[in-house]
Amino acid sequence: MSQDISGSSAAAGTKQADAFENLLHENRSFPPSAEFAANAVVTADDYAEADKDRPAFWAKQARSLLSWDKDFDQALDWSNPPFAKWFVGGEINAAYNALDRHVENGLGDRVAIYFEGEPGDSRSYTYAQLTVEVKKAANAFESLGVSKGDRVAVYLPMIPEAVITLLACARIGAVHSVVFGGFSAEALRSRIDDAEAKLVVTADGTYRRGKPSALKPAVDAALEASGHTVQHVVVVKRNGQDIAWNDDLDLWWEDTVGTAATEHTAVGHDSEHPLFILYTSGTTGKPKGILHTTGGYLTQTAYSHRAVFDLKPETDVFWCTADVGWVTGHSYVTYAPLINGATQVMYEGTPDSPHQGRWWEIVQKYGVTILYTAPTAIRTFMKWGRDIPDGYDLTSLRLLGSVGESINPEAWMWYRKVIGADKTPIVDTWWQTETGAQMITPLPGVTATKPGSAQVPLPGIAVDVVDEMGEPVPNGSGGYLVIREPWPAMLRGIWGDPERYKETYWSRFDGMYFAGDGAKRDEDGDIWLLGRVDDVMNISGHRLSTTEIESALVSHPAVAEAAVVGAADETTGQAVVAFVILRGNAVDTGDDIVQELRNHVGKEIGPIAKPRTILVVPELPKTRSGKIMRRLLKDVAEGREVGDASTLSDKTVMSQIAESLRK
Ligand code: ATP
Ligand code: MG
Repeated sequence: MSQDISGSSAAAGTKQADAFENLLHENRSFPPSAEFAANAVVTADDYAEADKDRPAFWAKQARSLLSWDKDFDQALDWSNPPFAKWFVGGEINAAYNALDRHVENGLGDRVAIYFEGEPGDSRSYTYAQLTVEVKKAANAFESLGVSKGDRVAVYLPMIPEAVITLLACARIGAVHSVVFGGFSAEALRSRIDDAEAKLVVTADGTYRRGKPSALKPAVDAALEASGHTVQHVVVVKRNGQDIAWNDDLDLWWEDTVGTAATEHTAVGHDSEHPLFILYTSGTTGKPKGILHTTGGYLTQTAYSHRAVFDLKPETDVFWCTADVGWVTGHSYVTYAPLINGATQVMYEGTPDSPHQGRWWEIVQKYGVTILYTAPTAIRTFMKWGRDIPDGYDLTSLRLLGSVGESINPEAWMWYRKVIGADKTPIVDTWWQTETGAQMITPLPGVTATKPGSAQVPLPGIAVDVVDEMGEPVPNGSGGYLVIREPWPAMLRGIWGDPERYKETYWSRFDGMYFAGDGAKRDEDGDIWLLGRVDDVMNISGHRLSTTEIESALVSHPAVAEAAVVGAADETTGQAVVAFVILRGNAVDTGDDIVQELRNHVGKEIGPIAKPRTILVVPELPKTRSGKIMRRLLKDVAEGREVGDASTLSDKTVMSQIAESLRK
């Protein structure tokens, strides 16, 4: 296998000021095996069919994957852009589609969720059992005065009650707004206020790295100051810790949901009825309250889940490791797997509790066939070393997925070789909270995959890479990622702020959705994500992508993770500053390793990309969803006070970095 990463310095004379330099070249390609391709649930025909008539393609998916209470009259109404309406006139109930209909179809005994708690407790729910739980929760919420259109704030750990709560809201037409359980009381309060939530559903606490960890005190603190709209707080008993109790607001889940009636009839809601509000990860700044509605969202999440994961619901065991606090935990834990009648695993804790093999133990225990996780986790496992996964039976795995950040080619190779026995296809899926569902990804039975590239738009999705002027870039060059046509799961706006919606996404390029990410097309036309456009570096007039230099660093055997930023520099305008974490078995040889890594980048990419400074650090600043927060590193690199770090997962990281800088 050869990897030809050729230099870019030759391109210096022909550089385009408005596009990225094209740095990395990837020649490795992994076509699906003949067997995989022959048994794939979706073939290349879907691309051709969708190209002929996109709305018709999606209408067909909507009708074949979902059960409608009232059929729709029109697939897409785009008469008032950028405000789209999908499946106009249709009526549908998300919870009925996820649950009741499977039971009615004789699948009541199929396991819907295998839950694994961090301390080692486990329970499972069949479709019949989960349906009853959701009906009870729907009855309980209604009895607390929650009705169609009301907002419910959800502040729960990764336990089945989270899925039950979301589906119960959807059932009665209430709009859920999940706030990740790791967020502070202030973050929770601002989201409760923004959505004017009537009900909060939380738990006493959860388990984190072997220890009980509290949730309810943050709710108490959030609701301490008056002026909020919350009428009740329903509390799941999870870790049994002592908590303060407010008789005016608080109710135990077991006393409300636990005692509620088990019959509840689901009625259809308008296709455009709001399903949920969810705030973005906050990687680049203040999170935005993204609004999703029902029919289009369910259609694209269900279609993509089936097509991209080659789902065979009778035999597959699907495991998406994302927390329900993020969009991935909405689309590919709560909704799509259940809509598609799949069996899935849900895990409460961290990958290192009680030991670093916990995930692989879970894969082995449940015979997981499809694993969907984030590059940050894969790079962590690389750092810990392959001996750990090698100690488990992972032969059940037949497909691996990645989401959340670009996956560096070497991390992709490690994932395939070590976790996927060098044969499972990997689907690198690009999408956002705003897109609701996967947008750019290989199809595992169709696409010959390439390490590090998300490659091609999903059938029925019109993605492009354009230059500063909005013109498509030719193959071999980079620019801005845009979406040209409305898509079913697209956000319908920012909650309560239609102007900010237009301004943020639709003002940069005329008639196109601007995703905020840089991208390039390689020689084959495949799409590579290059990082946030805010993070693009300009080195002596060359526009370089953080992702590509990071990938070059991670391709060195000593490096597990890397983050690159452009820091102001008197001679070159900006200079490349790299922060690296070494692999477990690599020793920090001080200047030697730094010099070696600089030369390595020079060799892989070209002299222009050589970092001016490389700092070996113990950790990198990440959002709670595991994304590197480069803007904080840029502050450090430019010697500034570190900016807003409220979405940082570990507050001590920045001081650890400052400490290693002083050394
Ligand atoms: P904020 O918008 O508040 O800064 P965020 O963009 O991190 O936060 P999300 O919606 O969770 O919030 O993340 C979407 C972003 O994650 C994408 O815009 C992209 O930058 C990155 N991303 C997701 N999947 C991939 C992928 N497969 N390859 C490269 N980047 C990805
Ligand atoms: Mg974003």
